[in-house]
Amino acid sequence: MNDVAATLARDCEVAMQAYLAGSGEAALRRAYLAGREALANGMGVLDILAAHQAPIIRELHSQVREQDSERAIEQAFHCLAESLSPFEMVFRGVQEANARLKQSLSSLRSVEEQLRRQNDELLAAHRAVEKERGRYQALYDFAPDGYLVTGLEGAILEANTAAAAILQTPKELLPGQSLSEFVVKADRAEFRERLRKLHIGSIEKMEDWQICIRPREGPPIPAALTVVAERSVPAVASLRWLIRDVTERKRLEKERDRWMFGRAKAHAARRFEILAEASSLLVGSPDVEANLISVARLAAPFFAGWCFISLVEPDGSLRQLEVAHANASAADLANNLRRHCLFGGPADRDRGALLAYPQLTEPLTDEWYDLAADGPQHSALLHELRGNSALVLPMRIHKRLVGVLTLISVVGARRPYRPAARALGEDLARRCALALENARLYREVVAERDKAEQASRAKDQFVAILSHELRNPLTPIVGWTRTLKCRTQISQDPVLAEGVKAIEKNALTLRRLIDDCLDLARISEGKIQTERKAVDLNQIVMTSAEAVRQMAAERELSLQVEVTAEPVPVLGDATRLEQVIMNLLINAVKYTKGGGSISIRTVWMGEETEVEITDTGIGIDPAYLEQIFEPFRQRTSSWLRSQSGLGLGLAIARRILEMHEGRIWAESAGLGRGSTFRVRLPLAAVEDQASAAGTVEQPPAAPGDSIRILLIEDLDDILFLMKTELEKMGHTVVTATDGHRGLEAARAHHPDLIISDIRMPVVDGYQLIRTIRDMPDLNTTPAIALTGFGAKKDIERALAAGFNGCLSKPAEPEEVAALLKQLIERRRAVHAGTQPG
Ligand code: ADP
Repeated sequence: MNDVAATLARDCEVAMQAYLAGSGEAALRRAYLAGREALANGMGVLDILAAHQAPIIRELHSQVREQDSERAIEQAFHCLAESLSPFEMVFRGVQEANARLKQSLSSLRSVEEQLRRQNDELLAAHRAVEKERGRYQALYDFAPDGYLVTGLEGAILEANTAAAAILQTPKELLPGQSLSEFVVKADRAEFRERLRKLHIGSIEKMEDWQICIRPREGPPIPAALTVVAERSVPAVASLRWLIRDVTERKRLEKERDRWMFGRAKAHAARRFEILAEASSLLVGSPDVEANLISVARLAAPFFAGWCFISLVEPDGSLRQLEVAHANASAADLANNLRRHCLFGGPADRDRGALLAYPQLTEPLTDEWYDLAADGPQHSALLHELRGNSALVLPMRIHKRLVGVLTLISVVGARRPYRPAARALGEDLARRCALALENARLYREVVAERDKAEQASRAKDQFVAILSHELRNPLTPIVGWTRTLKCRTQISQDPVLAEGVKAIEKNALTLRRLIDDCLDLARISEGKIQTERKAVDLNQIVMTSAEAVRQMAAERELSLQVEVTAEPVPVLGDATRLEQVIMNLLINAVKYTKGGGSISIRTVWMGEETEVEITDTGIGIDPAYLEQIFEPFRQRTSSWLRSQSGLGLGLAIARRILEMHEGRIWAESAGLGRGSTFRVRLPLAAVEDQASAAGTVEQPPAAPGDSIRILLIEDLDDILFLMKTELEKMGHTVVTATDGHRGLEAARAHHPDLIISDIRMPVVDGYQLIRTIRDMPDLNTTPAIALTGFGAKKDIERALAAGFNGCLSKPAEPEEVAALLKQLIERRRAVHAGTQPG
């Protein structure tokens, strides 16, 4: 200020001096401006006046000293007037300022007014906020859910009453505690991780965060958390939590789940029932189509509508199998629909896509009806179903379409094709497809089996006929070699004797092979007949052992026989049982190298008996112990192959034993370690034992039982051989080569016994015996028929025609002898007036 005053004083003085010196208005103007500037710089008016006055007064003083007082006074007044001009200027300035002040004041007033109004508004707002805050606080406090405010690290800042209740901690104790401390240990790590994310801002909000809260007291409770990060004021960033106790919700959920589960279980049980029922229907009868119809009828009510089943025909077209419906009153519509075929329309309509996969169509469109119907009439009928959705289920096997199962639900049905129902439908379709495939395979298998059986029968028949035809020429060879070797011309010539012996041996081998084939064929055809007589197994064992003793000795094998002290009675056919034991013994000899041993023994085993045949031979690989009982199966080592037959002996043995309710098996410790064959047979009841002994121990025919036999046979070789054999037995034989001649011979010779072939030209055996039975003097003459291979019906026919017994051709001398023995005994008994038992 002093600087200003000094500057002003100096400027004024300079200007005033200039003015007083006569510089005129310009100097006065400068003095004025200097004063104004000083005023603007805050200098007081009086100071300005004093600054103006000082040079004037100094001027006046000098002028008073130099001039007269009048001029001095005049100049003083003039100066005074000049010096007053700053006042005027100030006054004007003040007036200007005053006016500006007034203006500012009024604008200040309006601002003040505005402020006051705003203040009022603010106050009102504040009061409203306060009121709201009060209400909020009440809400906050009494809300049923827990509200918490925590810092970003989870330290509790505020909590409402509900939160305190949930955490079982007085509200005032909560601030400062960490919320994570109230989380059960198992959930704490996850809680902290999420808290960290909220803190760093990678999550802003989380809703329905399921967690288990561990209150200060009491058991843990399930809670649902909602948390929002509040960062609008960074300095006071916080987390706002809503904690809800969801124990009740969980309980309800559990209850609902239980209920839902119960419902689901009931549905699932029903679905399971349907599937189980459908499965049993599908195998209910051998007629697969009838089974599929039953399934369609089962499915229609379950799927609340209609069930269509169409099947793919061999030419690829579809055939409507069944249209089943749930609505009993729709029978007519169903009948009409059965006359059409769903998806069976013209082949040019491409249904490939529709029948490729299970498809649900909802609602049914005209386009769908178009594809499904086989024509306009069918389409109209289908519309009558009032269907609202269709589930088309192609039945496929290895991608091959075998049929289509279509379910159509009708309007009003309650969402019938939910996923579970769809899955059930698909399962049904799959099972139907499988049933169709099984039926097809079964048909194929049956056809194949029939073919195989036919082939097998043809083979058996061929084998039987071939064997029979081979045996016919073989019989005279064997017979003649036996006859020839007894002739002295031959027995005395070593070369001829050896030759005949070789012929006989090979012919016998050949005959055994043929017999095996015949036996097996007869057994397969069920044509073998076995007697059921009580026989002593010991006797059979001993006889068989004796029969092979020579053969064993030739191979330097020892043969031990050990039988029980008591007879072993079994019910059976002695010849067949002997065949079995002989086969086993011959095998033992065949498959044992020289120096080995063979043993056979019988053992009582409770209600059974066992024959055990053991050898020290080549043994059997355990893997083949069963296979050797199959026909044509041989496990012989190559060096022995020449020894073996056709591999039929054991197969025949097993079948013969089965016919006797017995069994046979082999045991061996392995190749090179010998074999044991065991035969088990049921023992006969005690009362049969007497007859067992009786049968086996029949006395030989008494000498002098010679009879006159008429032998009728069209094959010369057999006729001649049989005649020779019968004559060797001491009988008189008359022969005839056909039925006609046979009748003549019968009339002429009145034989004691007639043996006749059946198949003969002109007059056959049946005709012959019927004629003979009509002759009063021959009607009681015993007659035996020579029948062909196992021809059961030939035997029955022969007996019915009037024969007394049958022999299958070519008959062995032993068989003929046995039959003759029986007839002679019967004759003897008749003559003695008694009947044998
Ligand atoms: P075959 O003796 O005519 O071959 P079998 O039916 O009697 O026919 O026997 C079948 C097979 O069983 C024989 O080829 C042989 O491999 C085996 N076998 C039978 N008996 C014995 C045995 N005592 N020792 C070793 N192997 C045997």
